[in-house]
Amino acid sequence: MELKGKKVLVVGLGKSGLAAALFLRQQGAQVTVSDMRSAAALSKDIPALLEQGIMVESGGHGLLTFRRQDLIVVSPGVPLDTPELVQAKAFGLPVIGELELAAQFLKGNILAITGSNGKTTTTVLTGEILAAGGLPSLVGGNIGVPVVELIEKSSDESWSVLEVSSFQLESTRLFHPRIAVILNITPDHLDRHGTFENYALAKERIFAAQSAGDFLVLNADNQRAANAAERTAAKVYWFSLEGPVERGAWVENGQVVFRGETGGSIEPILPLAGIPLKGAHNIENVLAAVCSARLAGVPSGAIARAVADFRAVEHRLEYVATANGVEYYNDSKATNVDAAAKAIAAFPGCIHLILGGKDKNSNYADLSDLLRKRVKAVYTIGSAAAKIETQIRGMVPITPCETLERAVATASKAAHPGDVVLLSPACSSFDQFASYEHRGRVFKELVFDRTGSSGRG
Ligand code: ADP
Repeated sequence: MELKGKKVLVVGLGKSGLAAALFLRQQGAQVTVSDMRSAAALSKDIPALLEQGIMVESGGHGLLTFRRQDLIVVSPGVPLDTPELVQAKAFGLPVIGELELAAQFLKGNILAITGSNGKTTTTVLTGEILAAGGLPSLVGGNIGVPVVELIEKSSDESWSVLEVSSFQLESTRLFHPRIAVILNITPDHLDRHGTFENYALAKERIFAAQSAGDFLVLNADNQRAANAAERTAAKVYWFSLEGPVERGAWVENGQVVFRGETGGSIEPILPLAGIPLKGAHNIENVLAAVCSARLAGVPSGAIARAVADFRAVEHRLEYVATANGVEYYNDSKATNVDAAAKAIAAFPGCIHLILGGKDKNSNYADLSDLLRKRVKAVYTIGSAAAKIETQIRGMVPITPCETLERAVATASKAAHPGDVVLLSPACSSFDQFASYEHRGRVFKELVFDRTGSSGRG
């Protein structure tokens, strides 16, 4: 792709929009950025852009801005049905995302990971396993490091381990991972994708450009993810918590094992007891990482070492502290019902569960069984509280708390030694917090305030 002298519009000035604009400029393109937010809201980034000779349109999108371009690069947060984008497409302008742009310049191999849940954990873990195996690995994507920022560091030998979201995949055409992983597909982001099928199809774009020499790693236990096997040209590998697979990774006699070829020998990789992460869902993440790492050529010893050294990524079932015999866990990243279900299932029982935030059109009644079996009490917060209370009424005692502060105080008072206070809200955070990270940090501060400084740092 030749960018020199091309007129390129970047829509949406998030982290990846900003990185894309700077990269495009570096490549000699004439770059304009357009964002709905006001100049005041964008003030942090505008000086750096202007300094590079990048034009900035703030406070809305001008139709003409969208016409006078050779290429439009859209940030993942901007819906593709934004009227200006629809019109630009109708006009014949190419509209791509930052991932698609970056993938055309990235050298070496791409190992891409998508799924409704577990992407970040699996991406970070896979990056560490590849590094332990001596492969030059770069980690980026939806995880917070724009893919364009990896381009400079990439080489023909490098492995770019990329977390990719359905929003990023929606606009890809040439994005071509050597190894693609679909961890699971469960309902999420229906507010943006409309239907579950549309959402699943966006995720399946991860293998759209793959061919017979590539690998697609699928979760045999997740039906919608497993269905992809019928539609891919790549060689399919599986992982499963439930039992042996034809090729791929599973658990047998307390060991994670791998089989490289149908009918081939079974290779022990590491004991289950050597996995420090909590919960069956994290064993799934480990299986996916083990399978991908073996396909990338990492030997089992390096895999076992890297897994044993791995700790939960912040806000993902992260241990916070223990006070009066009560353990506190921060799972603020559980922004959908399935993720919360996995977190609840990771503890034997006696959970005081903080639920709520901004609803994403979810069905909280899906938690009923787990709530009855494992949860002592629910504390609701945020704008979804009334809906949650209606949908789970009668399963467990519910205390409406409105704020996280009150929820932590109330749960702490009610909890007995041996109990767990778990923030796994099943909702996004945007009603009361800037982000799930913000919500998780506030939770940890509230816990540390109760426990003194123990566990801090
Ligand atoms: P993502 O990047 O896809 O959001 P994370 O690794 O950040 O995934 O984990 C988000 C939340 O999803 C975690 O807090 C955990 O509760 C849950 N989770 C993690 N892995 C899985 C999995 N394999 N299946 C279901 N839920 C999971």
